[in-house]
Amino acid sequence: MGLAAAYRAAKNGHEVDLLEAAPEPGGMAGHFDFEGLSLERFYHFICKTDQPTFDLMQELGIADKLRWRSTTMGFFSDNHLYPWGDPIALLRFPFPGPFGFVDKLRYGLFAFLCVRRNSWPAIEHESARDWIVRWCGTNVYNRFWKPLFDHKFYEYADNISAAWIWTRIRRIGRSRKSIFQEELGYMEGGTITLVNALIDAIQAHGGRIHLGQPAQQITSENGRVTGVQTAARGETPAHFYPADAVLCTTPTPLVSALVPDLPADWKQRYDSIHNIGVICVIFKLTRSVTPHFWVNVSEPDIEIPGVIEFSNLRPLGSQAVATPGSPANTVVYVPYYMPTTHPKFSWPDASLIDEAFACLQRLNPALTRADIVATKVARLRYGQPICEPGFASKIPPIQTPIAGLQIADTCYYYPEDRGIAESVRLGSGMAEALGSLSQ
Ligand SMILES: Cc1cc2nc3c(=O)[nH]c(=O)nc-3n(C[C@H](O)[C@H](O)[C@H](O)COP(=O)(O)OP(=O)(O)OC[C@H]3O[C@@H](n4cnc5c(N)ncnc54)[C@H](O)[C@@H]3O)c2cc1C
Repeated sequence: MGLAAAYRAAKNGHEVDLLEAAPEPGGMAGHFDFEGLSLERFYHFICKTDQPTFDLMQELGIADKLRWRSTTMGFFSDNHLYPWGDPIALLRFPFPGPFGFVDKLRYGLFAFLCVRRNSWPAIEHESARDWIVRWCGTNVYNRFWKPLFDHKFYEYADNISAAWIWTRIRRIGRSRKSIFQEELGYMEGGTITLVNALIDAIQAHGGRIHLGQPAQQITSENGRVTGVQTAARGETPAHFYPADAVLCTTPTPLVSALVPDLPADWKQRYDSIHNIGVICVIFKLTRSVTPHFWVNVSEPDIEIPGVIEFSNLRPLGSQAVATPGSPANTVVYVPYYMPTTHPKFSWPDASLIDEAFACLQRLNPALTRADIVATKVARLRYGQPICEPGFASKIPPIQTPIAGLQIADTCYYYPEDRGIAESVRLGSGMAEALGSLSQ
């Protein structure tokens, strides 16, 4: 969001300094070096509805880097891997009980209407649990949804907005070639392709990028923003950047401390938005785990909501070769979402890797430790905002009471889930609100 805002502002003729706390650019969409393979720290896929991403890629001259691939989903339950995500898979899924067939029909109708639905106010004040139970019944909720919610949202599981879940179902549901075939996208080279193109374009318009420079305080005088004070870090001394406009796109839980001059009731609004953390355990393997891109996991003894075999979307081929004679062209992400107060969030990497690999072995018993070529554990404190029913009224306005200071993060485009396309749209909009100085 910050990169998109900086690009648009620089293109519109403003003098831009972008401050990024991390030593590398891209935030959640950033890459790391996975033993010779440049890879996203967190799995990323593109859907056919991500129009702001396509428009930006076109504008930056990288539209040819977009690729599409037919992908499939699986569902792991009762120690068995079932196909999932299309009408035939649903009809074939074993669903015992006198109403099994009726339950499946209700679920199919629910999914079909979710994809076609365009309006959300009617479900904004309902919890996802109540909404799914109302449409599909308790059996369907307990079988398919409850384990996913419990292992992602923990104490928040019963109080997630139906509107927010609906947009997630709709986004995937609309990314299809046909009703029977899902089709997802990726960028050649990964999301860093877009990040690098944005950096080049910002600099080409005279903007400056300052990596490893965390903003410590956004300052103001007489109700107008005056600039940003950074903290000293390593060799880099503290610095004050004077500014007549500041676009702050850090996670909202950081805002109160960052902007001490905000009124108390505004700080309270930012502080009341909760996030869960995310940890991704990433494996580079010599063999595939399943043929699917995404497998939902619903087993009482596995505390993992799903497994993403990324190389079934973005072919990594020879780029992933670790050592000659050892082709490692499979990359799998095992995501853990949880409140950061959960003891598991502080587990050492080795324990997470052991547990995640045991899950992969349940999906594919032929896997052995000898198939592991490399591992990485990526952690993020503010990984996913918690959007409860009625969340829309909790979001503070983007324009703060301090003139020249706009603030937003990924929860601002609720009910859409965090995503590159929506962040690009919102970040660009914040910059457009500054007006254009270009001739
Ligand atoms: C596990 C996971 C999977 C995802 N999958 C997808 C996907 O499949 N498709 C998709 O489109 N999107 C996906 N996303 C979301 C996507 O990455 C983000 O929506 C997108 O990167 C835009 O994020 P943002 O810029 O709004 O926030 P962020 O990327 O969080 O940017 C905020 C930035 O603020 C910086 N910062 C924090 N504090 C300070 C400070 N004091 N001073 C300066 N800088 C600071 C942070 O370092 C960070 O770079 C995923 C995200 C995660 C975590």
